[in-house]
Amino acid sequence: MFDVVVVGAGPGGSSTAEYAAKAGLDVLFIDSRKEIGWPVQCGEFMPKTEEIERLFENVDEPGELFDVPARVVSKPTSVIRMVSPDGREYDINFSGYSTERRDFDKYLAERAVKAGAELMTDTKFMKFDGRNRVVTTRGTFDAKIVVGADGPFSAVRRSIGLPAPRLLYPAMSTTMNGEFGDTVYMYFGSVAPAGYAWIIPKAGGANVGLGADPALTKREVGFYAKEFIKQTGMKFNTKPRQMIAGGWVPMAGPLSKTVDGNVLLVGDAAGHVMATNGGGICTAMICGRIAGRTIGDHLNGRAPLEKYELEWRRAIGRDLETAKRMVRYASFTFSNDWMLSLLFRFAGRKGLSKVIKCKSIFSLRDWT
Ligand SMILES: Cc1cc2nc3c(=O)[nH]c(=O)nc-3n(C[C@H](O)[C@H](O)[C@H](O)COP(=O)(O)OP(=O)(O)OC[C@H]3O[C@@H](n4cnc5c(N)ncnc54)[C@H](O)[C@@H]3O)c2cc1C
Repeated sequence: MFDVVVVGAGPGGSSTAEYAAKAGLDVLFIDSRKEIGWPVQCGEFMPKTEEIERLFENVDEPGELFDVPARVVSKPTSVIRMVSPDGREYDINFSGYSTERRDFDKYLAERAVKAGAELMTDTKFMKFDGRNRVVTTRGTFDAKIVVGADGPFSAVRRSIGLPAPRLLYPAMSTTMNGEFGDTVYMYFGSVAPAGYAWIIPKAGGANVGLGADPALTKREVGFYAKEFIKQTGMKFNTKPRQMIAGGWVPMAGPLSKTVDGNVLLVGDAAGHVMATNGGGICTAMICGRIAGRTIGDHLNGRAPLEKYELEWRRAIGRDLETAKRMVRYASFTFSNDWMLSLLFRFAGRKGLSKVIKCKSIFSLRDWT
């Protein structure tokens, strides 16, 4: 009998496993992948710790989670250039870095193993046999608590009958060789309807890709991605280094219920993604730490498991809801490049900076 079985060893699952192990629990975390972090289905962009502090003011000790070693940083970046459909550029000061996600996810899993958690790769969650028995492709494990950190299509979430996120964007990316400076580019408009296309500089290249609302795209998102990659290649005189890889991003904000009996949901499985930029690595890590600690408190008789939901909402809930609201307000412009360009001009550099950082352009508090 394990205290906790965590399904998924992405950023959410590994962070949960790390902090549950640090609380002294017997932890097993499993992943269906043979190699953690591979294949990469990501833009690989992370805010630096000081930006995460500004994004989510209520997160305790961000440095403990996010001060990562240089070996998982590919290239630091200092500016996000938002390009409106009419070609105007709005530069936002934002300290971030690209990572090698393949190494980054392994590093997080190593942290959990170092803390005492047991990792099993090539092990897929199949179903529950009663809420305390986890059936996998490599055997059945008994667990007091089960965590679903198994991504947007979470089999754990499905197995307990909780509803899926309402809106999933398909997103695709590849890596290009070449020199791309230290500015992150985000292109908006019909290039990626209701989403954006990105160029994220990496050491010796860039991660290039896009995500879009499937309800507004006239063709498969792969078509838009290939067109954009072609243009990027022409602009920067470079070629793709790696095959294009895709995935899905939950864009409708967090689920209303993330704890059910002895099961918790973390990261993409719970919709913990910033709707204004599609970033979900740091939010999965924040919620993973809260999940691990809360499970520790719970099994030591100090807190109900529901505290997890209260705690992640206290830490990032308001910001995720604000981001969701901002996207909803702007949605009337998403199929009209002219209107979206006008909205960019109205918001200006400062307003866009707020929105991208999950703040409201209408709240005085967020302007101070
Ligand atoms: C194309 C693309 C680009 C993105 N770019 C960025 C970006 O630049 N920055 C950013 O912050 N976010 C980005 N995101 C979002 C980010 O990747 C996710 O929000 C983040 O990975 C969520 O972490 P997680 O641990 O919740 O889930 P995941 O990272 O998806 O991890 C889930 C893990 O569960 C495993 N799993 C799934 N099902 C099972 C099962 N049945 N049994 C066992 N294991 C299972 C999977 O193999 C996987 O390893 C991007 C997403 C996509 C698709």
